[in-house]
Amino acid sequence: MGKNMLGVFETTKEAIEAAVVAQKELVTNYSYEDRDRFIARIKQAVIDSLEEFCRLEFEETGYGRVDDKKAKNGGIVSLPGTEVLPSAVHMGVKGVTIEYPAPYGVIGAVTPVTNPSSTILCNGVMAMTAGNSVVFNAHPGAKDISAKSIHLFNEAVVAEGGPCNIVTMPRIPSLDTLDDIMGHPAIKLLVGTGGPGMVSTLMKSGKKVIAAGAGNPPCIVDETADVDKAAVGIFYAASYDNGLLCATEKVLYVVDEVFEEFFKNIVTAGARVLTREEADKVTAIALQKLPTGKTVANKNYVGKDAAVILKAANVPVSGDPRLAIFEAKQDDSFVLTEQMMPILPIVRCKDFGQAKAWAVQAEQGLMHSASIWSNIVERVTSFGREINTTIFVHNGSTMAVFGVDGTGKAGPTIATPTGEGICTAATFTRKRHFAMANGGNFIL
Ligand code: NAD
Repeated sequence: MGKNMLGVFETTKEAIEAAVVAQKELVTNYSYEDRDRFIARIKQAVIDSLEEFCRLEFEETGYGRVDDKKAKNGGIVSLPGTEVLPSAVHMGVKGVTIEYPAPYGVIGAVTPVTNPSSTILCNGVMAMTAGNSVVFNAHPGAKDISAKSIHLFNEAVVAEGGPCNIVTMPRIPSLDTLDDIMGHPAIKLLVGTGGPGMVSTLMKSGKKVIAAGAGNPPCIVDETADVDKAAVGIFYAASYDNGLLCATEKVLYVVDEVFEEFFKNIVTAGARVLTREEADKVTAIALQKLPTGKTVANKNYVGKDAAVILKAANVPVSGDPRLAIFEAKQDDSFVLTEQMMPILPIVRCKDFGQAKAWAVQAEQGLMHSASIWSNIVERVTSFGREINTTIFVHNGSTMAVFGVDGTGKAGPTIATPTGEGICTAATFTRKRHFAMANGGNFIL
């Protein structure tokens, strides 16, 4: 796979050089309107091949649910075009200064195995909107679907008369190809979407980095919440694509007064309840202790169906439950480890104060995502202040910021440690300033 595909090269050098040429062509020979036409064609191409794409992504990675991937990958249609590129004019009798959004040039980007095609296609579109090209270092476990995404993108742009190779990749990505990308003088910006090892590697490059790192999003349900709505919203978000989204709820804190009612409602929504003994069996296979003492998710079970994980743990299961839940303690490793599985630990809390303290502890200062279901605005404010996450949602799941029961657009890269938030086309621009001095162009 990858041979004879547009934008997919045998060597990193070729991938970078092609992206350099394409970027120059894009900014020299094409207008903003051209870029918008390219974007429309890419969106159409994604929609036309959505079913096949999602199936192939599932077959290669073994992660997630095909139907959920259709919603995830189809989210590209929500992306805006060049109209969102920010500019400003400052004027006075001494002249006019224009602030405008220039591209970085060629971006080097690292993508995760959990959302490979949506990250390449959405970030590719946003980077091109801003006038950049991108050399992707895809996750080796998703290199084929990544190559298909790169090909689809270039094919659509070329079909609209645009330059080939706005997005490229080395056919066989590795840490060595990443080294080549990071060290190449043409690469002006690095964008990394993935876990902590990747973020620290990019940070050592000496180049500007936009880093979208790991999370462990906690959610609180207090006694004033609409418990029915909360149960349905959390059931959907925590099970979405089998827990693969970094931003969706991974651990839940429910205040004692409404705990039983909430539990009943989430079971009615479709969750399979694990006994303590069953939860221990699941934990034993789903998490692993590293020699360093750190507990991490066992990659063999990341993004798998709950039924697959339960069967592997010798826990009886019937049908295909989207989510398994269990009553957990705050010191359970499932609570404190980013696990990316459709298994949701639910911790009973005596009151909101305890829920807030434990949720902050579970988030571990990653500044990623959190949510709260409550009708006391002071509590929402106080939790928001203390948890200090990039995404914070009130009375909805964290997916609200991406437009699910809320207002927002697709955003596969949530830059947490470096602070850019959900990346948009504007994130991939450099601010430049052009001044007409000595009263230039100021007509009184
Ligand atoms: P991962 O960290 O294993 O891999 C991500 C990418 O980094 C891959 O391309 C991989 O090849 C590369 N990589 C891995 N280790 C590296 C190292 N030491 N040096 C350089 N590159 C390295 O993560 P994954 O399993 O692909 O994705 C899941 C992780 O990504 C989770 O932690 C999740 O929270 C995070 N994630 C974050 C966001 C976000 O927007 N913040 C989005 C998606 C995923």
